[in-house]
Amino acid sequence: MREVKPCPYCGGKVMLVCKRMGPLTEAALEGNHNQEDFELFEAYVCCEDCDDLEESELTEEDLFMPEVENWEGALRVWWIPQVPGTPMYYPVKGVEQAKFTLRLLSEYDLFQFENNIKPDYSNAGGLEVDLKGTGDWECWYDEAERDIDELMEEDDS
Ligand SMILES: [Zn+2]
Repeated sequence: MREVKPCPYCGGKVMLVCKRMGPLTEAALEGNHNQEDFELFEAYVCCEDCDDLEESELTEEDLFMPEVENWEGALRVWWIPQVPGTPMYYPVKGVEQAKFTLRLLSEYDLFQFENNIKPDYSNAGGLEVDLKGTGDWECWYDEAERDIDELMEEDDS
């Protein structure tokens, strides 16, 4: 279930209303009451506290919280080329981009080592998320509590 934003007009609680209208189709008359069984079906958003939302042109899609993937600048890769050391941070737009970036950094370290550009090294990296855009970065986990390392290991195996 996706989270819904508060009402943009008053901050109240937004409800998604699905209304079945019109006559039932034959399938519905046989007892299967699905959305498709109604000839007319209306879905709209309204606010518990004001009428402004219902009168606006906003739809469900406008009011869903963006998926974490879509939070602009809210995901960043960190990379320490030599542990212990200062991490470098780099913003990414999504998990796939994070994997790509981490692989590139890892390969780049290896390349530099093999070509005598850098000495023996121990690197580390990961993905952080700033869920609320407040600058409180924390380790990113997916819905199954896997971090980016675990996801990348699964990809490799
Ligand atoms: Zn409202």
